Amino acid sequence: MSEMKKYMEKAEASILKTYNRFPAVFEKGEDVYLVDMDGKKYLDFGAGIAVSALGYSNEQYKNALKNQVDLLLHTSNLYYNKPAVEAAEKVVKASGLDKVFFTNSGTEAIEGALKVAKKYAYDKDPSKEYEFVAMHHSFHGRSQGALAVTGNSHYQDGFVPMGIRAVFAEFNNLEDVLSKITDTTCGIICEVVQGEGGIYPAKKEFLEGLRKVCDEKDIILIFDEVQCGMGRCGSMFAHDLYGVKPDVMALAKGLGCGVPVGAFVTNEKTSKSLVPGDHGTTYGGNPFATAAVSTVFDIFESENIVENVKEVGAYLYEKLEELKEKADGIVDHRGMGFLQGLEFDAPVSPIVNEAFAKGLLLISAGSNIIRFVPPLVINKKHVDDMIAILEEIIVK
Ligand SMILES: *Cc1c(COP(=O)(O)O)cnc(C)c1O
Repeated sequence: MSEMKKYMEKAEASILKTYNRFPAVFEKGEDVYLVDMDGKKYLDFGAGIAVSALGYSNEQYKNALKNQVDLLLHTSNLYYNKPAVEAAEKVVKASGLDKVFFTNSGTEAIEGALKVAKKYAYDKDPSKEYEFVAMHHSFHGRSQGALAVTGNSHYQDGFVPMGIRAVFAEFNNLEDVLSKITDTTCGIICEVVQGEGGIYPAKKEFLEGLRKVCDEKDIILIFDEVQCGMGRCGSMFAHDLYGVKPDVMALAKGLGCGVPVGAFVTNEKTSKSLVPGDHGTTYGGNPFATAAVSTVFDIFESENIVENVKEVGAYLYEKLEELKEKADGIVDHRGMGFLQGLEFDAPVSPIVNEAFAKGLLLISAGSNIIRFVPPLVINKKHVDDMIAILEEIIVK
């Protein structure tokens, strides 16, 4: 038995079975490729689920982490630390929002955002029990609170009741959202581009309508930019493309480019809702994680990452449109930048598995959709290579 096979067997013997994994043990990354224990190289169009935005060989990023390991890993939030301050300033400047709370994951960023909205409403009127309007087909994470606003029973079944009250409306249907708002609605939460739900971008009128009703009724508007933010859609944050600002924004995935870190970011109106004692985390915002965040922002600027997403993302769009014409079974192509989806008329797992065998990592979003979320540093040649492999599989 190969060494790699042995590791896979040991994994199944010791790691809780919550995933059906692809048969590879990845040992290292190079550029935008992953290499398994047998030395097989894979072109990565999944980026660890939209995380590894800088690919795997950014020296500045690696050196910043190595440097921080030598200096200091952790202090707790009882004290200040330099990287957290620098990272927070960069998030605030890039977003135009007011304050940041660093978390360890996207789920925790959502939890914090929900607590901000509940507390804001409670401070105005503590006599009510508040609820959220969330969207069908959304995905916000796996804790009981984040699950409660995730509009997909597939994730919720077996775990009800949950700690947050939520009603669900159809995404991009403003009338439906308006009909779900009551005097106990404290927040509306949505992704700007639905990721796990199948790569559905919001319509401009929809986000503008949400902003308007939230302003009129003093409801907190939360944008989940965990997947679509950090340059992935061709602007620093996806909502920049729409000119609509949230009251609270959740970030993670590309924020640390591989170091586990998330954040929720508040505007001036919501920055005072959580006060000492209301919220906390032991690890969150530690020097190691925030050194990653701080360096990621520096590199985004010095290497014009967002420009690359715009340019190569448009190229990817063109190539996928061509492929859609050539191949049978593609029913839709959606998205922007490096968050694009191809919807097929049948489950895509056979295509994804064949691509895997040919050294191309693709991931799905829902059963019939291939999601393209490569590192943000790929070039046109990588797109051509990916398309060539995909074409081999689907153009008969
Ligand atoms: C991945 C994701 C989350 C959850 O993030 P984790 O880091 O897995 O907890 C939340 N919202 C969206 C939109 C996501 O894509």
